[in-house]
Amino acid sequence: MSVLVLVEHTEGNIKKKSFEAVQYAAQIAKNTGTTATAVVLGTIADAEMEALGNYGANKVIHIADKRLDELHARAYATALVNIAKAEGSKIIITLYDINGRAVAPRVAVQLKAGLLAGALSYPDTAKGFAIKKAVFSGKAFAWVNLLSDIKVIMLMPNTFPLTKTDGKATIETQEVSFTEKDFGIKVTSVNKVTGEISLADATLVVSGGRGMKGPENWGLIEDLAKELGAATACSRPVADAHWRPHHEHVGQTGGSIRPDLYIAVGISGAIQHLAGVNGSKTIVVINTDPEAPFFKAANYGVVGDAMKVLPMLTEAVKKFKLHK
Ligand code: FAD
Repeated sequence: MSVLVLVEHTEGNIKKKSFEAVQYAAQIAKNTGTTATAVVLGTIADAEMEALGNYGANKVIHIADKRLDELHARAYATALVNIAKAEGSKIIITLYDINGRAVAPRVAVQLKAGLLAGALSYPDTAKGFAIKKAVFSGKAFAWVNLLSDIKVIMLMPNTFPLTKTDGKATIETQEVSFTEKDFGIKVTSVNKVTGEISLADATLVVSGGRGMKGPENWGLIEDLAKELGAATACSRPVADAHWRPHHEHVGQTGGSIRPDLYIAVGISGAIQHLAGVNGSKTIVVINTDPEAPFFKAANYGVVGDAMKVLPMLTEAVKKFKLHK
């Protein structure tokens, strides 16, 4: 009956957002009078999995099949469905990210489960099993009641702060029999971006729009990002114009991020852009136009020319770090 949670890792390092998913699963388990079981797929050290206990997992089920080192959505779903059946799990948690979006719907179909994508709250059992999620590109919230016997919940990353405990989890290695079909899609090559802070996991992001005038001015964005230890992002027209690579584009048709701090420079704040960033905890806007729509979504704003404000801000961060 335990609450199952899929854990993601990169080459054996568990992602921060997966600790959050485990903590979320553990709290739901507590609220529903059961335990939390983390499912880890692929090659990973026991010491790394032990950390899952610190975030509330009671048990870790490890399927050590090397083929699972890469995301094979069908195989991942097969593993989760088999474990859910064996454990009698009625609640299965994944993240609402690229991996989760590939795996969770497959699990839900196979288990005839209701699926909630992008959970922003714990289930409110006083209202049935109601969970809050964003709708209309983040312009409104809806409470969705999951009425099915089995429920699949995809948690929006960066929704809850992490709290480390001294909890411990037992680790069990299990086997799942896969079919050839489970590995029907072959990854032929992987191009890794190195030396950059991953935008998806970044807690601080500096982002530029068309107001930056051209790629030749991006050094100003990068200088500030470097001082802050932030990732860089951009608006869609900037990526379309090849000023920046497409993986940096955020918004409705790009990446969806929820950093602690999002600094938007020379970005107007169109609804399609906001859709990908308005879950950020603090938004700072730098724009020459005091009427720019982004100011309405901002916690702090600077009306000014990015070419002048950015160097001053970078200097201020440098000085602050020196005197810390
Ligand atoms: P602009 O709208 O041109 O704004 C530039 C801003 O810079 C202005 O506010 C201006 O006042 C300011 N500025 C100018 N000079 C300076 C200066 N020197 N210093 C400081 N500020 C200055 N957009 C996305 O970003 N992401 C998406 O995923 C996305 N998806 C879309 C999907 C659809 C279906 C559609 C129709 C559109 C989508 N768009 C998306 C485009 C979106 O509607 C906007 O056109 C886009 O976000 C505008 O980009 P921008 O703010 O960089 O440029």
